[in-house]
Amino acid sequence: MTTKAQSYLTHFRNIGIAAHIDAGKTTTTERILYYTGRTHNIGEVHDGAATMDWMEQERERGITITAAATTAKWKHSATGEEYTVNIIDTPGHVDFTIEVERSMRVLDGAVAVFDSSQGVEPQSETVWRQADRYGVPRIAFSNKMDKTGASFELVLRDIKERLGAIAAPIQYPMGEESEFKGIIDLVRMKAHTYNNDLGDDITISEIPEQYMGKVSEMRAQMIEAAAEVDEDVMMKFLEGEEPTVEELVKAIRKGTIEKRIFPVLCGSALKNKGVQLLLDAVVDYLPSPLEVPAIKGKVEDSEDTVEFPADPEGKMAALAFKIMADPYVGRLTFVRIYSGTLQSGSYVYNATKEKRERVGRLLKMHANSREEVTELRAGELGAVIGLKDSGTGNTLIGDGDDRVLLESIDVPEPVIKL
Ligand code: GDP
Repeated sequence: MTTKAQSYLTHFRNIGIAAHIDAGKTTTTERILYYTGRTHNIGEVHDGAATMDWMEQERERGITITAAATTAKWKHSATGEEYTVNIIDTPGHVDFTIEVERSMRVLDGAVAVFDSSQGVEPQSETVWRQADRYGVPRIAFSNKMDKTGASFELVLRDIKERLGAIAAPIQYPMGEESEFKGIIDLVRMKAHTYNNDLGDDITISEIPEQYMGKVSEMRAQMIEAAAEVDEDVMMKFLEGEEPTVEELVKAIRKGTIEKRIFPVLCGSALKNKGVQLLLDAVVDYLPSPLEVPAIKGKVEDSEDTVEFPADPEGKMAALAFKIMADPYVGRLTFVRIYSGTLQSGSYVYNATKEKRERVGRLLKMHANSREEVTELRAGELGAVIGLKDSGTGNTLIGDGDDRVLLESIDVPEPVIKL
């Protein structure tokens, strides 16, 4: 049961973007931060030139992806509801390191980016397996649909055959390579046509006749996957009836969170096509902090474990997952709060180091600004100024609470390939 105090968490998504080098992680992240930052931070930007300038400036200043966790807002295009999306920087391209483990521990879901001209490459397989090991639900983004050799069906087939996953195509591209001009939303059955490469002029219409054959084929695959995990959709499927949009979203969401379905989307981050639909899918299919298993803690000097459900009114438990040096404020300790509420100016206990520490100021990092806050609640991520001795991987609990260490994820030893 979700209490009133926890209700904000239904509109929270803590995600990472995982990809092997060159698939387009940086470009996709930049576009996401652009779209999510637009209404809040940019103000009077209407024409495309200004948008591009802004992205260039951000790239030069390197702000967008240097924060270990960036807080963004996204209004779902179909429902109009606003969500907080925290984007956690997953260390790129590293195998089975402690860094990967830390970032995987603080996110609840991920977007796996593929280069659709390459299909699933050996390196993208590695990234996928890492997410498997850490039990991270994910959606797949078949990027670079504009590139020569791009094939959505190649990615779809590879995800099934090479990764052995139940891939559910929830989109289909209108055209590929230089002809790529839009995306068909197979759940809501609408065509999104992009009228320029700036992503700010989109026509939403009925699906053009020429695509109907492919659309039925792909949609049947999607419904079949949804029917596997949801009885309502299964009943309709067996009776040859069409499930509603709500039923489909609910079923695919359930399957994704249970890691039984992997929704597959397409687009071109470079050409600003499909990024808004990708954000809608993050909201539709990836879990809120309330839908992932509660993190466990080990009680000192005993075999007991305690759970920390995502509740701002519970006992405070947080994990420090990244330390960064900031030229203005000094040491920034990035934390994820799992339970309870962390207050600025309070004392916390670093259970790993067995040390009491004073919390100074608290910050939420946005794409192009930072916001000082007085508290960080369960499910939130932000940076603490003032912690002197806390390092990455340390557990922070309330001052005076029983000493508990957050458990690391049980990950089998990496298989060393000779
Ligand atoms: P990362 O290594 O995964 O972070 O990849 P980047 O985002 O740096 O992209 C690698 C290269 O692919 C860059 O030259 C990008 O401009 C290019 N790229 C990224 N997205 C797309 C896309 O949608 N279409 C095309 N054609 N190129 C892209």
